[in-house]
Amino acid sequence: MGTIANKLVNGIQKLGGKIRYKANVTEILLKEKKAVGVKLSNGEEIYSNTIVSNSTRWDTFGLKNNNKGLIPRVSVPQSEYKWSETYKSSPSFVSIHLGVEKNLIRDNFNCHHIIVENWDELESEKGVIFVSIPTLLDSSLAPEGKHIVHAFTPSSMSEWEGLSRKEYLEKKDKYFSFLVEKISTILPNLEQSIDHKEIGTPKTHKKFLGRYEGSYGPIPSKKLLGLLPMPFNTTKIKNLYCVGDSCFPGQGLNAVAFSGYACAHKIGAKLNINSLKLPE
Ligand SMILES: Cc1cc2nc3c(=O)[nH]c(=O)nc-3n(C[C@H](O)[C@H](O)[C@H](O)COP(=O)(O)OP(=O)(O)OC[C@H]3O[C@@H](n4cnc5c(N)ncnc54)[C@H](O)[C@@H]3O)c2cc1C
Repeated sequence: MGTIANKLVNGIQKLGGKIRYKANVTEILLKEKKAVGVKLSNGEEIYSNTIVSNSTRWDTFGLKNNNKGLIPRVSVPQSEYKWSETYKSSPSFVSIHLGVEKNLIRDNFNCHHIIVENWDELESEKGVIFVSIPTLLDSSLAPEGKHIVHAFTPSSMSEWEGLSRKEYLEKKDKYFSFLVEKISTILPNLEQSIDHKEIGTPKTHKKFLGRYEGSYGPIPSKKLLGLLPMPFNTTKIKNLYCVGDSCFPGQGLNAVAFSGYACAHKIGAKLNINSLKLPE
């Protein structure tokens, strides 16, 4: 964990870039309908003629529930409201990471499993459980004599809002027991073998990953013609680009890596600094 982020940091710094930690962008500064810079939570203002937002369109443009976006409401392009009618956020997850005794799991056990009782409920709250045991493929991930079991089940933010601290912790315990009971159908005696446990809820993903509603990412809210209605990296605000899972081709790590590449290429073309020239 963290290796990819560290590699990216090294790359950015090697090319003369700087990273501000603990200084979220609170506003994208506009002048004469063009993006001209950003304001950070530490009060600093940074000016540029190219601004890229990697936060979701919901967060960048404040498209839902009267949320405050990074752009003043009067300047939000109409096309962004259309986007938020076409796409909705997929649910989040409750996920658990367990450290368990190695002898619980035989060496030839499969790494990945899904537990489904009713296919019609696949996308519902707790409708499916995904289980992975990465230490079956790489034992160095856990201490000697231990395995890691990672499991998650769909869960929506609405299930977790408005709870007192006590209610929240009790609900976490209930989801934990539910997951352990279901996983015990493929790993009997799981509960007795647990040495370490971590439980994350949609609120955890929202807080620590900065994810809108803790969501996996945008999904179409109606039937669409494939991926193409997803916008590319430019926006209707001059000099403002978007990148990540609310751009083409959508959610998931492979998709957002492509989005980052496409955005860099687009900006490179604008600045005339792309090293790769297409043949004439
Ligand atoms: C629990 C969970 C499990 C997932 N599992 C998988 C998986 O197994 N495989 C897979 O392919 N995909 C998975 N996904 C989806 C995948 O993580 C996303 O599609 C992908 O991370 C989106 O990339 P992104 O760059 O658009 O956004 P993010 O990865 O969310 O990056 C955006 C970054 O911007 C930061 N940010 C937001 N607002 C501001 C601001 N105002 N100022 C400064 N920084 C800000 C955020 O903190 C965040 O670090 C999962 C998602 C979740 C939530």
